[in-house]
Amino acid sequence: MKSAGNPLPQVSQNELQAMAYSDPLTGLGNRYRLRDKVRLLAAERAQDPAPFTICIANLDGFKPINDLFGAEAGDEILCQVAHRLKACIPDGATVTRHEGDEFAFILPLVFERTGAERIGQMIKDVLSAPYDLGDRNVRLSASFGFAIYPFAGADFEELLKSAETALYRSKRRGRGQITVYSREIAQEMKRATQLEQALRNAIIADAVDVHFQPIVGVADGAVVGFEALARWIDADLGSVSPAVFVPLAEERGFIDALSETLLRKAAEAALSWPRELFLSFNLSSAQLMDPGTTETILSTLARVGLDPYRLELEITETAVMTSADTAQRIITDLRRQGVRIALDDFGTGQSSLGRLRDFTFDKVKIDRAFVSRITTDRASEHIVKAIIAMCQGLDLEVVAEGIETWTDANKLKELGCGMGQGYFYGKPADSAATLRYLHEHYRDFVTL
Ligand code: C2E
Ligand code: MG
Ligand code: MG
Repeated sequence: MKSAGNPLPQVSQNELQAMAYSDPLTGLGNRYRLRDKVRLLAAERAQDPAPFTICIANLDGFKPINDLFGAEAGDEILCQVAHRLKACIPDGATVTRHEGDEFAFILPLVFERTGAERIGQMIKDVLSAPYDLGDRNVRLSASFGFAIYPFAGADFEELLKSAETALYRSKRRGRGQITVYSREIAQEMKRATQLEQALRNAIIADAVDVHFQPIVGVADGAVVGFEALARWIDADLGSVSPAVFVPLAEERGFIDALSETLLRKAAEAALSWPRELFLSFNLSSAQLMDPGTTETILSTLARVGLDPYRLELEITETAVMTSADTAQRIITDLRRQGVRIALDDFGTGQSSLGRLRDFTFDKVKIDRAFVSRITTDRASEHIVKAIIAMCQGLDLEVVAEGIETWTDANKLKELGCGMGQGYFYGKPADSAATLRYLHEHYRDFVTL
């Protein structure tokens, strides 16, 4: 009996071959095309030892656009990217779609780093022009990872892995970055990965600790609260600064777990202090972009039993800027529950006075960079003076950070600065030492 359906169309061997090697969406070659081309080129170059270069480019921020405008718009952008890439790559070069929003290039005539960077810059510029989606335009940037044969790998797999390592580094450094693989970069990435693993283990093992630094009233030197500062000592790596491991946890997406542990420990310690002392806790910028932050903080406080009125959160201007709407909501919700907000490191970063007007803060912490030079540098003195006056006018509390000497402290007293913090008053210390500090420095303090 004959089958009732249409006969299968005849597909030639060549057509099958072409289908297996091409990406149906963009019409570019796919990852198999890349592999074969690289192998072929490597075989040719084995006799003629001239280098060549491969590159992987990944679109920055493609996923949110895809989620927001739909897969059809996403596909349209990928096609436009493919079109631009085909038009701009140098003669003899090949572009393929690697996967998702990732494209790859083979550049037979790029032999060294500066050449690779130049091409990367050119492609980056081409991709940064707006994409027309009919009813709207969107902009995208791209990150690049280059690997040069044979230094970055003698076969396809190794070369690709090197390009991926370079791309990974670009991604970690933000948008629109270009990285050419080198041994140093591989080392740097390896160290970061080791650090990440060690930190993840330390969080699980509850080995990341918090120390506390006193914040005092400048007029009488009496302690009014403590800032919690994360501390981590690894068996192999030694003491690692929070300025290193906090951003790493942010980048690798586990700042929530880290911060929750730290807040829990800090809040538990604060329970043994006199009730009128506040706990100041640093919030990372990633947390101010995450709408779940309010709930996480409040539930941690509830579990520990610390009154939200005793908590202050230190945030930075950069964090407020990056995701203003979400940050605003988090700040408003937390303040409604009694949590107070301090603007940390004021005066550095992209300070904007408008920010002070638009957002509701309770306190400003003047950065150590100004405070440490207050007695030796007239400009710093004037800046600190102006910040103090501004805070008075705006009804904001003010803390000078990084007070190291009696002269600094005295100058700040003269200028009418409300609160101070720094080695002069006390270095960060663990919870047991903090209790001892309170016994020595706090009137009528007895441990329960
Ligand atoms: P920060 O919040 O501005 O903290 C003040 C930093 O200045 C601390 O450094 C503190 O030890 C140091 N410091 C205090 N007084 C003096 C002084 O008189 N002289 C000098 N030279 N330094 C002083 P640390 O502990 O290394 O923390 C660095 C940064 O890491 C912090 O800056 C904060 O941004 C971040 N960080 C620390 N702990 C946490 C945390 O639990 N969560 C988050 N998200 N970030 C944290
Ligand atoms: Mg701070
Ligand atoms: Mg600070």
